[in-house]
Amino acid sequence: MQIAVIGAGLAGLACAEQLRDSGHAPILFEKSRGVGGRMSTRRVEIDHGQVGFDHGAQYMTVRDPGFVRLVQSWQAAGLAAPWPAAGDEAWVGVPGMNAPARAMADRFDVRRGQRVTALEAWPDGWHLRLADEQETAGPFAAAIVAVPAEQAGPLLAAIAPDWSALALATRSSPCWTVMAAFAARLPVETDVIKKRGPIGWAARNSAKPGRSGPEAWVIQADADWSAANLEMTPEQAQDRLLGIFAETMGLDLPQTLSLSAHRWRYAKSGTAERGTAERGTAARTALWDPDRRLGVCGDWLLGPRVESAFLSGTGLAAMIPAQAG
Ligand SMILES: Cc1cc2nc3c(=O)[nH]c(=O)nc-3n(C[C@H](O)[C@H](O)[C@H](O)COP(=O)(O)OP(=O)(O)OC[C@H]3O[C@@H](n4cnc5c(N)ncnc54)[C@H](O)[C@@H]3O)c2cc1C
Repeated sequence: MQIAVIGAGLAGLACAEQLRDSGHAPILFEKSRGVGGRMSTRRVEIDHGQVGFDHGAQYMTVRDPGFVRLVQSWQAAGLAAPWPAAGDEAWVGVPGMNAPARAMADRFDVRRGQRVTALEAWPDGWHLRLADEQETAGPFAAAIVAVPAEQAGPLLAAIAPDWSALALATRSSPCWTVMAAFAARLPVETDVIKKRGPIGWAARNSAKPGRSGPEAWVIQADADWSAANLEMTPEQAQDRLLGIFAETMGLDLPQTLSLSAHRWRYAKSGTAERGTAERGTAARTALWDPDRRLGVCGDWLLGPRVESAFLSGTGLAAMIPAQAG
């Protein structure tokens, strides 16, 4: 079957990979230029070079045996490494968190910069409406929605109202994230700082395996501070959060080589309520309607982690019968 997968984060990519192994032909539609979704890395130009920041997921926990196998294959390809500073089961992408997703995407037809605005069931199959395009894309024998809950809700409203309601009832928390590179090493012994006042997490990004360049930190406000200050400008957020970080840590900060902030309106997903979506579900890791050949996957069905995205994506693929021959 030719299958449309909407969203090239880890859920969509992991689903597509397993569908292809079952004899299907997935095509991914991704609204951004880059792939990997919230497993993201931003590169910033500085004098005499570049510095990278993992400004979304900081690391991934790797526990499920299937995910262990996948991450070990990434490690063998030089795309992932353990990062003990964040815990015994913590891994990161190398040289950035987005590296594994980029490598996965290279093996697919990914239509980048294509935002899907609606899915329509025509007699010959699923058609996708795309922003700024007159024509629909299709027909597809099946369609899969692999986007965050807040974006899945509107997409599903006209075609699967109960799933749409489930998605809209699953709320993510926001996260203001500051990315700062410094001219000198900060006098902080550990590479990871967890929950100090309004700082939910701070990490020496440059100490992750496979990174190069100057001292670089990613500083995340906690959900309460982020929600209370959501409408700040990035400039205000970067100055305020860096100030709070310096004060909390008792630091006299060295000169910054670069400083920026990113607002994630939907950072850490909630977890979908169990038992409220009924249409054709075989399991709660993902949603699949075999009659209409419509599926939904994403972290929000299981919880706010990279590993959940993988489990949901592969769980959905396992519900879709393999193509004979
Ligand atoms: C700041 C932050 C910190 C985090 N820290 C951690 C951590 O330390 N450990 C951990 O395990 N997890 C962490 N997470 C969560 C983790 O990043 C996510 O759980 C995981 O990446 C979700 O994958 P996904 O594929 O379900 O969704 P996404 O990665 O969001 O992928 C969805 C994709 O769909 C695309 N899309 C959306 N709408 C459309 C549309 N209409 N048309 C086409 N494309 C569309 C998006 O652009 C995106 O690429 C963090 C997240 C954030 C933001």
